[in-house]
Formats: sequence, C-alpha cells, structure tokens
Amino acid sequence: GAGTADAAENRILVFVRLRPMSRKEKEAGSRSCVKIVNKKEVYLTEYASENDYLRLKRVRGRHFCFDSAFPDSTTQAEIYNTSTADLVEGVLQGRNGTVFCYGATGAGKTYTMLGTMENPGVMVLAIKDLFSKVRQRSYDGNHSIQLSYLEIYNETVRDLLSPGRPLHLREDKQVTVAAGLTQYRAYSTDEVMKLLQQGNKNRTTEPTRVNETSSRSHAILQVIVEYRFMDGVNIVTRVGKLSLIDLAGSERALATDQRTQRSIEGANINRSLLALSNCVNALVEGKKHIPYRNSKLTQLLKDSLGGSCNTVMIANISPSNLTFGETQNTLHWADRAKEI
Ligand code: ADP
Ligand code: MG
Repeated sequence: GAGTADAAENRILVFVRLRPMSRKEKEAGSRSCVKIVNKKEVYLTEYASENDYLRLKRVRGRHFCFDSAFPDSTTQAEIYNTSTADLVEGVLQGRNGTVFCYGATGAGKTYTMLGTMENPGVMVLAIKDLFSKVRQRSYDGNHSIQLSYLEIYNETVRDLLSPGRPLHLREDKQVTVAAGLTQYRAYSTDEVMKLLQQGNKNRTTEPTRVNETSSRSHAILQVIVEYRFMDGVNIVTRVGKLSLIDLAGSERALATDQRTQRSIEGANINRSLLALSNCVNALVEGKKHIPYRNSKLTQLLKDSLGGSCNTVMIANISPSNLTFGETQNTLHWADRAKEI
C-alpha cells in the first residue's frame, strides 16, 4: 500500500535486453559493441573511425549497471519471469503495474512485448499467468479479466481492437480514460494471442512502407482484473490494472522542416516520449508536481506511473556497432530511470 510501502518497493526496476545480431547486420559487416557481464552489467564499446574497415580500434568502453541485463540467448519466459511476474501478482492484490519497452526502432520492443506465435512475449505470457492464477483462486470469489488495446499515433488515440475514429480522452474519477474504448472480456489465452496479433496489424503503418508498423506509434495494452468477494454480508470489489506498453522508437526524429507531415509526426512523437521522460525525471527528483497533462501517453498513464504503482522499464538494444549512438542513448535514458 502507498502509506506503508518503503522506498525500494516503489522504485522503477530497469532491465536491459540485448537482441541477437540480425542477418542484415551481419551482412553489413557489423561487429558487436555490447557485452553483458554478471547478469547485471552492460559493457558498451566505442570503436574509432567508422570508415576504417580494416582496423576498427577500440577507443573506450563504459559500464552500465541495471537490475538485470539479459544476454541475447534469453528466452521470452525468462524475460517474463524476471520482469513482470511479480507485477501480475500485485495486480491480483489490487495494485497497478506498468511495463514499458523502450528503445530504438528495430531494437526488439515488439518482439519483447508481443512476440510471435511460436515465441509469445510479455503481453501474452502475463495474460496466461493471470488466467492460471485466477483459476487457482476463484474458490473464494469471482474474477473478471478485461482488456483494451490502443494506439497513440501523432497524439491521436485509436482502438486497436475495433479500429475506427479517433477516441477522445475524458476524466473519470481521477483517472483518464479513452471514451468508447473496447473493453474485451477475455476467457482464454489462445483467443487473446490472436486478438493481440490482429490488433498489432491495426497499428498505423508508415505511408512509405505499407507493411511495416510505424516506428512512431505507441501501443498500450491494459488488463483490468476485478475481484469480487463476500466480506461478511458485504460484496467487496478489488481492482488492479496492468499496463503493458510498446513505446514508439526512441531515435531522434531527423526531420527539421516544420511544415512537412513527417516533422509534425516527429514532433508529436517527441511530445509523448518527451512527456514520459519529463514525468520520469520529475519522479526521479522527488517533485510533488508530475507533469502528466503534457501528452496523451502520460495522461493515460497517470494512475500507472510512480506513487504506489509497480513500474518496470525494459530497454531494448541491438548489439551492432552500426547503431552505437542509439544504444548509447537508450542506456543513458535507462540509467536515469533507475534512480526513481
Ligand atoms: P522494434 O519493435 O523495437 O522496432 P522488433 O521487435 O520489431 O523491434 O525487432 C526487430 C527484428 O528483430 C524483428 O524481426 C524481430 O523478430 C527480431 N528480434 C528482436 N528481438 C529478438 C530476439 N530477442 N530474438 C530473436 N529475434 C528478435
Ligand atoms: Mg515495434
């Protein structure tokens, strides 16, 4: 609970996941610039002279330390068990939990969150776990599991389970909700996997690359677990909410021309990611006022960030020296978030 919890309980846990080198990266002749040491440390190496193909010289290295650092051999189940299983337990006790995947486009966020049919990710494993835990406990009351899946693209909120017109946000008893968002009553894991895969296909695609999900889109799955039980003659309801978020790519928007659509989109992506950073910073600094109102993302997460909420950040990185700059930025950001 908020009042009695010690500081450590409310800290953001920060994990880093390194993905395997892709075939494309190998073919481009890239080498690994990331090493995971002792299950907690990331060692990042910078090589000199990107255009000296023959002799890449190691110039400097830097250590970063996290709650866990996962090497590229880590399974989806290990990621789930270490990062999210405790939050699912908390949600069943009525405590909100939030997991973010942060990182550059191509670093493995969607793989970690959604995964594939063969290797389902955190979203699916969390729901599977919820179902099995609820089944074990339903003798003394009734649980219901409802999910919603939405996208924030260009500061516009859309329902991924029932695509259509943009949704408006409204205040409802201290929380911000998307009006008209589908709340799907879920009964089985298989059904949910299909639903989420379909939802992911509904995410906005780049105008230039029709089959690729936009790197500017944030996807938010919220799972609401409601537990009703009898306490003497009273019916008591306990509600916990799990938010699982596949953030937009964290790489810097390159567009500088204010008038182009791309730069408008870039600016808006920065708005939600920037607002998230600012909230994280305010929480790090122990500020009283947290600027949730500055973006759709942070408005929707007002009751799911900081306070008595359990928060987990998974920073996704590629091993390739070709994306050194992005990896460095991601690690710096994750390093900062750790201080909450
Ligand atoms: P992002 O969502 O951050 O843009 P993706 O999750 O789409 O990145 O990952 C980019 C590519 O790398 C995809 O083809 C994905 O299947 C693959 N990939 C990412 N992480 C892993 C992993 N841990 N193991 C195997 N393949 C991965
Ligand atoms: Mg993605």
